Amino acid sequence: MDFAFSEREEMLRKTVREFAENEVTPKMGAMEETGKFPMELLKPMAELGIMGVITPPEYDGVGLGYVARTIVLEELGRVCGAMPMAVQVHHMGCAALYDFGTDAQKKKYLPALAKGETMGVVAVTDPSGGSDVVGMRTSAELKGDRYILNGRKCFITNSHTSDFWIVIARTAEGAKGLSAFIVDKDAPGAKAGHEENKLGLRGANTGELVFNDCEVPKENLLGQEGGGLAIAMKTVSETGRTGMAATALGILTAVYEEAGKFASERVLYGKPISALQGIQFLMAEIYAQLEISRLLCYRASWMKDQDMRFDTESAMAKWYACEAAANAAKKAVEIHGAYGIMKEYTVQRLLRDAMVTIPAGGTGEIGKVVLARAALAPFMKK
Ligand SMILES: Cc1cc2nc3c(=O)[nH]c(=O)nc-3n(C[C@H](O)[C@H](O)[C@H](O)COP(=O)(O)OP(=O)(O)OC[C@H]3O[C@@H](n4cnc5c(N)ncnc54)[C@H](O)[C@@H]3O)c2cc1C
Repeated sequence: MDFAFSEREEMLRKTVREFAENEVTPKMGAMEETGKFPMELLKPMAELGIMGVITPPEYDGVGLGYVARTIVLEELGRVCGAMPMAVQVHHMGCAALYDFGTDAQKKKYLPALAKGETMGVVAVTDPSGGSDVVGMRTSAELKGDRYILNGRKCFITNSHTSDFWIVIARTAEGAKGLSAFIVDKDAPGAKAGHEENKLGLRGANTGELVFNDCEVPKENLLGQEGGGLAIAMKTVSETGRTGMAATALGILTAVYEEAGKFASERVLYGKPISALQGIQFLMAEIYAQLEISRLLCYRASWMKDQDMRFDTESAMAKWYACEAAANAAKKAVEIHGAYGIMKEYTVQRLLRDAMVTIPAGGTGEIGKVVLARAALAPFMKK
């Protein structure tokens, strides 16, 4: 067993950390204020390999894999949680296309994503089907050489910042009646609708996609008709859950740093408050939550890189890291006393950002549904 990062991975971490500190920090005020994603950072991020980190070089990516991706997302999230939120969903779009696309679809879309010309989108959720994916009602009907889509997707990351969307819609009844489509944002009858005004991760764009007799050419079907649930589940489980876990890990790293800095600088009774055992215990818990999350996140990513099955591990990393980030951020706000709830202090944003990671990519309860299945499997009667 080897828990050490390679020299190349350490170098990647340093490069992304510098990029995040120098290039993302100046954008954060506007991101918080307007809720807009800084599109001007797409190209610089692509040049560093961030946008194409999991895309193979034949499609203009750098193909470094999932451990490298987690490093990238963690470092972006340490500075600004909205960045890995948007970038990790972009990677979900890349993964879905790479895993299920035809050669023509891969050639058409993957290089543009890796070069930061546009952003990846995977639209599963609709108002009638959140956790209940099979309950979705957005429909697609084949008429001649086109599918006609009707319905609405909600809470979709990068909805307004992408030129095309991967959309899951119903082509027949039941779980085997879902299919995936590549929908151009300019397709007749397609539009990006309402943009959400979120509590946290504000700079990551979240919004609606609306389809009114939207015409999608038959060749834009992704995978097989009826294969939409499998595409959604594989993409969410492998790329989405590891991505949200890494986003939460980045936020947790910032929580730990902010709490530690404040505790060692704030003086009460003639000493820094870090001398108080009550504060030390809070720091001990935050530290353990960070380290446990880090181990879970990198284990899941490593398993993906080893081509192992890891749906339980990705669900565990996602559920634990997101809950831990919110829990640790609350402690960090408490360590700050009244300062913690003031807008000038970073910890209040970290608490808001951490809360938003919990439903994104599947709620804690859905994570526990997956974990319970694994926990009880050895005891089930054959
Ligand atoms: C910031 C953000 C970004 C997102 N980005 C995307 C995106 O890019 N693409 C996309 O498709 N979706 C996206 N989503 C949507 C996200 O996947 C859904 O919010 C999530 O799946 C939960 O669905 P819901 O919000 O409709 O909640 P519901 O499914 O309505 O859940 C309500 C409550 O019921 C609980 N519940 C549901 N089922 C069970 C069960 N079986 N057992 C116990 N409790 C249960 C839930 O845990 C929750 O507490 C995003 C969400 C957020 C917040």
